[in-house]
Amino acid sequence: MTKLAAYAVSADNSRGRVVHEDPPTGRSDFQRDRDRIIHSSAFRRLEYKTQVFVNHVGDLFRTRLTHSLEVAQIGRSIARNLHLNEDLVEAISLAHDLGHTPFGHAGQNALNHCMKGYGGFEHNLQSLRVVDVLEERYAAFNGLNLCYETREGILKHVAKKNVEKLGELAHRFIQNKSPSLEAQLANFSDEIAYNNHDVDDGLRSGLITLDQLQEVSIFSRHLVQVKRKYPSIAERRMVYETIRNMINTLVTDLIQQSIINIENTQVDNLAAVHEAPPLIGFSQEIKKEQQQLKNFLYNNLYRHFRVVRMNNKANHIIERLFSAFASEIRLLPTEYQKKFEHEGHQVIADYIAGMTDRYAIKEYQRLFTIAEN
Ligand code: MG
Repeated sequence: MTKLAAYAVSADNSRGRVVHEDPPTGRSDFQRDRDRIIHSSAFRRLEYKTQVFVNHVGDLFRTRLTHSLEVAQIGRSIARNLHLNEDLVEAISLAHDLGHTPFGHAGQNALNHCMKGYGGFEHNLQSLRVVDVLEERYAAFNGLNLCYETREGILKHVAKKNVEKLGELAHRFIQNKSPSLEAQLANFSDEIAYNNHDVDDGLRSGLITLDQLQEVSIFSRHLVQVKRKYPSIAERRMVYETIRNMINTLVTDLIQQSIINIENTQVDNLAAVHEAPPLIGFSQEIKKEQQQLKNFLYNNLYRHFRVVRMNNKANHIIERLFSAFASEIRLLPTEYQKKFEHEGHQVIADYIAGMTDRYAIKEYQRLFTIAEN
């Protein structure tokens, strides 16, 4: 790792772990966090969870696992340029989607709806719950006992009603304080990763076309450059090359604009970062182009009738599972039944959120198909 800037998070200014542990040898505290995340079972399950496309429809589409790896890759390279803590950015990036339900956002919305009378469901909060409570692999504590800064980065947003129960970690949402630059960066890396890979997956699936993408300025201007430079390459390569250049433009812009923002506010320590407005960000011009791309994806991909049909099935599966468990707790595996006595419906949410796409489909068949058992 290159030398850290004065405004970066370091092991020295870390607020540490909930349960005290001696510092690791041979690796930093944030490397230890990353390692714990990679060894968690929630991380392995990301391989079989949908990003946009249901997990089993094609082997080439992104899953939550490959998405998280791309977020970490983009995050690390930006962090290195800004002299931020790469290990922390990597840990946050790899953990940011651990709480996701099966079937992507459709699953999250369905579960949130089911949990309405019981505090609701937010995947972001659930990611924190996975690392704080749900992973059971260490003798001395529940969860992964991650550093404060890693947990702060995972908690991207939180509804006002949940601030108090999360304590200090969530206070910044009522005090209007900013998270570390590493946390801000992981958030932007997420956005850069999904906007670009959704273009790639959208084109490959045939749900969106190159023709339609002409209306998206950031895509069309990079496509024109690629065509000019390589007039005779195959279309698939042209798409890859265009997306590669788009990512490069976004990463470069984010680095340059963030340096300007940091210099303008003259933050020179971590405490000043928390007091300052968010400093990691795109230039106005790129921000506009990103928004245009997002709108395009929303209208043409996320609301494509084939995606909507899939989401509808996802809704149906999650809602039926939830209501079956809620009306007959003994349908839950024994260990969840025990937890239900103390924790109520949150346990059903934990069980469903932890499922992979295919596990949820299997569970649905086990519960509702006569031939299965
Ligand atoms: Mg993500």
